[in-house]
Amino acid sequence: MGIVEEVRIAKRTGFCYGVREAIDKAKEASAAGKATHTLGQVVHNEGVVRDLQDLGIETVETLDDVDHGAAVVIRAHGVRPDVMERAESRGLEVIDGTCTWVIQEHRELTKLVEEGYTIVLLGTPKHAEVVGMLGFAPDAIVVDEEEEWEAAIPRKKRMALISQSTQPPWKFEKLAAFMVGRAHELKIVNTVCPVTIRRQQDTMEAAKDVDLMVVVGGRSSANTKELTRLCEIAGTPAIQVEGVRDLTDAEVFAEARVVGVTGGTSTPIEDLRDVAQHILKMAGTPDVQARASELAGAALAVAATPAGRTTSLPTTARPASGAGSSDRWPAGASPRSSERHASAS
Ligand code: SF4
Repeated sequence: MGIVEEVRIAKRTGFCYGVREAIDKAKEASAAGKATHTLGQVVHNEGVVRDLQDLGIETVETLDDVDHGAAVVIRAHGVRPDVMERAESRGLEVIDGTCTWVIQEHRELTKLVEEGYTIVLLGTPKHAEVVGMLGFAPDAIVVDEEEEWEAAIPRKKRMALISQSTQPPWKFEKLAAFMVGRAHELKIVNTVCPVTIRRQQDTMEAAKDVDLMVVVGGRSSANTKELTRLCEIAGTPAIQVEGVRDLTDAEVFAEARVVGVTGGTSTPIEDLRDVAQHILKMAGTPDVQARASELAGAALAVAATPAGRTTSLPTTARPASGAGSSDRWPAGASPRSSERHASAS
């Protein structure tokens, strides 16, 4: 028994449009009867991977695991051009789920290489998106934490700065300011994704009015960690979890009347509902505990917009954990394919 009276889900959460479209493309291929694979996990989320497996969509780590003629979906992070060429030369049907924003990054990098700039790429080394980007600019210098910048970034006449899509905007701006003193000519190509920026704004907005924030997402996800950091900057304590399973201690909510829930770009919005419901059940007042499912559904309905939906396709739903509900979408939030890029504007 606790004191939680309300859980609010931050607006414009759920998958970003890039992740959603890659998942939709895999489902469409499978529904068309194709032997479908994704090159790497399309998203690091057990439930989503399980859903895809149930549809017969297999995750493979290399192209060698895909039989000739079968379909392979390239996930939103994109791949190096040689990977694409190899898939085609092996006679695979390549379904390109690379996010349109990431494709733009690739184009910008190609141009910067042609123009002869020394390129600095702000990103997490070895992250799939960064690995793919390096395929278009193999000599780019990848930097991440501020302490590395001084040693890693040379002084050159003509330099260019570009970013992995999910880097925090403040870090990009700070690096740009640092690089002004390192080059005679500095070209800045701001490729921080607008979805990342909006999500951070909405999370900070939600954090302002609650007693505690719960951030849901992969432990190693940079954009999830950044959301946790921002909640704390907003002056609200925050905990980061991967899902319901990590929420075992009701004591965490001992002083929280209103709790906020947000999630990274790879976290399905249904997972946020499940977490909301779990908190209400575990730490709510008696009345709230009894209505946990209804209240979590209502919180989802307020937060879920068509742009924040999980899929554009009709789907057999994975039941909410412990929720006894199988609705992917609350009433009034049904998907429409014409809104696929609504969150990209
Ligand atoms: S975060 Fe932005 S760029 Fe990255 S996959 Fe999602 S929509 Fe695309």
